[in-house]
Amino acid sequence: MVQKLNPAIIGGGYAGMAAATELASHGIPVTMYESAKQLGGRARGVLLNDTQLDNGQHLLLGCYRETLRLIELVGGNIEQDFLRLPLQLNLHQQFSLKAPHLPAPLHLLIALLTTQGLTWGERMKAARFMLKLRGMKFRIEHDINVAALLAQYQQDANLSLKLWEPLCIAALNTPIHKASAQVLLNVLRDALNRTRADSDMLLPRLDFTALFPQRAAAYIEQHGGKVFTSCGAEAIVAKNDGIELVTANGAHTFSHVICATSPAAAAKLLRPIAALANSVALIDSLQHQPIYTVYLQYPPSVRLPYPMLGLHQRLSQWLFDKGQIATQPGLLAAVISAEGIHQELGQEELARKVMVELREEFGITEAAQWHKVIAEKRATFCCSPNLQRPSQQTAVPRLLLAGDYTAGEYPATLEGAVISGVKCAELIAH
Ligand SMILES: Cc1cc2nc3c(=O)[nH]c(=O)nc-3n(C[C@H](O)[C@H](O)[C@H](O)COP(=O)(O)OP(=O)(O)OC[C@H]3O[C@@H](n4cnc5c(N)ncnc54)[C@H](O)[C@@H]3O)c2cc1C
Repeated sequence: MVQKLNPAIIGGGYAGMAAATELASHGIPVTMYESAKQLGGRARGVLLNDTQLDNGQHLLLGCYRETLRLIELVGGNIEQDFLRLPLQLNLHQQFSLKAPHLPAPLHLLIALLTTQGLTWGERMKAARFMLKLRGMKFRIEHDINVAALLAQYQQDANLSLKLWEPLCIAALNTPIHKASAQVLLNVLRDALNRTRADSDMLLPRLDFTALFPQRAAAYIEQHGGKVFTSCGAEAIVAKNDGIELVTANGAHTFSHVICATSPAAAAKLLRPIAALANSVALIDSLQHQPIYTVYLQYPPSVRLPYPMLGLHQRLSQWLFDKGQIATQPGLLAAVISAEGIHQELGQEELARKVMVELREEFGITEAAQWHKVIAEKRATFCCSPNLQRPSQQTAVPRLLLAGDYTAGEYPATLEGAVISGVKCAELIAH
């Protein structure tokens, strides 16, 4: 008979670690099961050629308040752990927007009105659009795709190509003709409309396992919990007195279970439970979008003009100079988000094309010492309009769902994952 709270969490990604940390902070001991050797899930550190990389280059926004709060709770220091850049979007030699040191949303309006690479008319249209969205409190009555919203507000081709499309793909990992306008507006509302710091871009100096999951594991253990890696959940059984979890460690009954895996792994675990057919159907209906990261190790003298910058109408969408971000001189990361022609290329060909782009754009003629393409084919769900996502509460009362794909206002992001985990923890604690 289970009498006290002893929740278990399946999955040590950002959602699961957030749930476990939040429960531990309420004095509730948790048991965490992660099937991989390492914590972090899709945002995990990867060691390659003695170089610490991530499963894919990530960044946070200043408005990711829950993620930043929990990183600090487990001992992180935001100003030391990240390179903080005030809002700036540079597409090399084509477009440059930089927010001045003014309160929000004035900083954005001035940034839009002084953008290089747009005509005066385009700048005015962009500024009017932002004011209009603010007047609408960033809400539209019926969700539509981002391309349709941009057309409705006369955001012409050049403006769309240089500003809104890169922003939409970076935020939602979904092309504008498939992306939910309402979810993009939720991100713009939180990033651009509250305080200036919310629009800051935070580039991690640590890998993503060290940044939060590893520290969270120590915090959980200090608070009486246990963290098992290389120990996946094999089955979930709803019982009268709790939820039984079958793992490589045997079968144990817990007061609650939070399933915080990727959508595909969650569907596999939940499918045998007849009462969860609706949640499983919603998970099965999700489509996915890829993210490719091409890491290139050049000689240490190679550097980009900025720690992060974009390219206009190239395969490489965003480039990160890890020398300027994380003292890894000569290490560059090129990120290619969402679906596109890059998916038709082999990894060697893709890396070669990225190297050609770097040579043509920046005159980098040195040879890369090594390169590595990390292709995450199901990096995030495709964030389409009116998408129904499974809620954290399920038809089985003490079985909860966390993860970036569960119901929420955000697209598939670290913040979305963390918010879902915190919500599950609150449902259990209160
Ligand atoms: C390349 C890439 C770049 C990205 N860039 C950004 C970015 O810049 N900013 C941003 O905010 N977001 C970004 N994202 C999205 C972000 O990484 C995800 O939204 C977030 O990591 C999802 O976390 P999660 O905990 O929901 O799921 P996951 O990270 O998928 O974690 C699920 C965990 O469950 C484990 N698991 C699975 N099955 C079992 C089982 N049976 N038993 C036990 N454990 C199990 C898995 O091993 C995994 O560790 C990016 C994603 C990718 C792939």
